[in-house]
Amino acid sequence: MADKSPAQKALVKLGLTRDIDLALHLPLRYEDETRITPLRNAREGDLVQIEATVTASEVQLRPRRQLVVRVEDGTGSCELRFFSFYPSHQKTMAVGARLRVRGEVRGGFWGRQMLHPAFRKAEGALPAALTPVYPTVAQLPQAYLRRAVASALARVQLPETLPPGLQPPVARFDGHAALQPVWNLREALLFLHHPTPDVALATLQDHSHPAWQRLKAEELLAQQLSQLTAKRERARLRAPRLQPAQEAGTLALHEQLLAVLPFALTGAQRRVSAEIAQDLARPVPMHRLLQGDVGSGKTVVAALAATVCMDAGWQCALMAPTEILAEQHFAKLIGWLEPLLAARGQQVAWLVGGQKKKERAAMLEHIASGAAALVVGTHAVIQEQVRFKNLALAVIDEQHRFGVAQRLALRQKLQHGVAAGPPQGDAAPLGGSDPRSGGAWGPSAPMEPHLLMMSATPIPRTLAMSYYADLDVSTIDELPPGRTPVVTKLIADSRKDQVVERIAAQVAAGRQVYWVCPLIEESEALDLSNATATHVELSEALPGVTVGLLHSRMPSLEKKAVMEEFKSGRMGVLVSTTVIEVGVDVPNASLMVIEHAERFGLSQLHQLRGRVGRGAAASACVLLYSTGDSGRLGETAKSRLKAMAETTDGFEIARRDLEIRGPGEFLGARQSGDALLRFADLACDGALLAWARAAAPQMLDQHPLLAEQHIQRWLGAKSDYLKA
Ligand code: ADP
Ligand code: MG
Repeated sequence: MADKSPAQKALVKLGLTRDIDLALHLPLRYEDETRITPLRNAREGDLVQIEATVTASEVQLRPRRQLVVRVEDGTGSCELRFFSFYPSHQKTMAVGARLRVRGEVRGGFWGRQMLHPAFRKAEGALPAALTPVYPTVAQLPQAYLRRAVASALARVQLPETLPPGLQPPVARFDGHAALQPVWNLREALLFLHHPTPDVALATLQDHSHPAWQRLKAEELLAQQLSQLTAKRERARLRAPRLQPAQEAGTLALHEQLLAVLPFALTGAQRRVSAEIAQDLARPVPMHRLLQGDVGSGKTVVAALAATVCMDAGWQCALMAPTEILAEQHFAKLIGWLEPLLAARGQQVAWLVGGQKKKERAAMLEHIASGAAALVVGTHAVIQEQVRFKNLALAVIDEQHRFGVAQRLALRQKLQHGVAAGPPQGDAAPLGGSDPRSGGAWGPSAPMEPHLLMMSATPIPRTLAMSYYADLDVSTIDELPPGRTPVVTKLIADSRKDQVVERIAAQVAAGRQVYWVCPLIEESEALDLSNATATHVELSEALPGVTVGLLHSRMPSLEKKAVMEEFKSGRMGVLVSTTVIEVGVDVPNASLMVIEHAERFGLSQLHQLRGRVGRGAAASACVLLYSTGDSGRLGETAKSRLKAMAETTDGFEIARRDLEIRGPGEFLGARQSGDALLRFADLACDGALLAWARAAAPQMLDQHPLLAEQHIQRWLGAKSDYLKA
């Protein structure tokens, strides 16, 4: 086979391999070559196409080498200047040649001029449609790409995949404002590549044109279809039914835990716990996201779910993204559960990355034997060597902090995790699942544990409806009683002194203070030195106060020791990089200072802020911002920080974060190869999204083949999406 040309290679690199890929490679903008402007009418600054004859052509050497071509069209004349040119250009623009020239008219001292205009021989009729300009790369000339797209468009088969009853709400108006049949995909694409010159260009630019709408509707439908398919496939899998054992005389763990809790559950906690318990009692794997603001009390809900699982005689795994988070998040929960489990001869196993070999081996044994009913740790919990006896529930805390790729891997591993040890015969756990007791699956269907994900970063509604459509969501929308709202203040870092005074006052009143230094992404070393310097500075400014330092590079034992000091109240001020971002629970802390707040994401700031206001004392969060050399904070930066001061509603903050950062950043999907929406924009395509959500189940039910075809068309080359 002949080697590919650089242009062909570039096509492959851009992911433009199939005809459909080329057909979906839409123009960035258009050039209007459909009209000729007489030179007489061409005004300075106009971008025009003229048709004129060359009357003179010469290479001038001063002030620098340039080709100067003079053209006339009978209504006026114009000079074309080229500072770089080839002999072939001179040939095309020889005296007497008739040319079509496109460029911006300048009215110089010497009359009209165009600098480096586009030109070609005046041949054939003018095009009837606008000329597309495609996004491309250096190795792929625009003209080559145009031809490739045009021939793909001519070849590509685009049979209608949307059944007549399921057309998107995209109207088409004729000249008399009467509704016409909607655009189909083929018409829409043909139009978008070669629109007629009478189109309002603004509607192409802002994607409001009906042809664009049709395209976006199709894309959203494909996304919904694929997620719904995934959801339905999961519904065919088996999972253990987790229902309480009916053993006389013993009190279930679940009731025991409720009895030892030092507080009553909030209404929201009771509601979501019931939702989860209902899922767990079904013989299909749960796939649920539990979202609730920082401090809303998700851990107890997880603990209750774990007891349901253990009461049914199965193992439960709890995971957090880092070791320190795992410890902080689950410390209380384990404090509650460990004694209860011990009374039944069971235990809690820890699995983290940096464990000693011997300890790890012992843990693995407990897990394999089933002596450990509860397994806690980082994603080390689901590594290959780990063999569960009978894992039935996996809980993932702070799931958004796992990368998307990590999350996918995790789910795959889980599928194998439980397959390793479904109970059989005598080994069947008390009250465990009985494959005969319902469900449409056969005994050979793969077994998967239930999955509960928890997140304090609420997913804005539009994202939940699109990217997470295959997920069930439970929301804790109520904070435990007795919390004092945190007051947030914006202060320029030039007024740091006042903030230090405030810290001194808080400590004098017996309270404790967090000082958060920003993570400097480019340089961990800089990050560290910054935190260290702040630590020294504050220690000097606050004589008699114990100021501690916590940063990500410290050995974990040292971290633990520092955290202990702070928790015990002996340490007044804790300087830290963002390691405390989630999980620290010190009710006596009443002030948090966040340095360079402008460098943090809103959701991140919100989570940090959630670390204070956990006790009865009035609490505050100071967002110190740096104005840099300009002495002013940029407008966007300011409005972002203002939003933080204005609202304490995590959902509202997540929504604004989404607005500012877009879904790619939000989902961390850029690194994942996940199919991001390419044409639709969730911020303004809510109506189309709603249509797609309603249409997807109908289409899967009534037109499964068309649905399959539609998914294939849109997501077949999904990995190529991001590169385009
Ligand atoms: P998050 O949702 O951020 O994970 P946690 O589960 O860490 O929140 O709970 C935050 C704090 O609130 C913990 O100290 C927890 O013990 C406490 N808590 C949880 N539920 C309640 C409740 N119903 N009443 C009082 N305090 C509660
Ligand atoms: Mg938590």
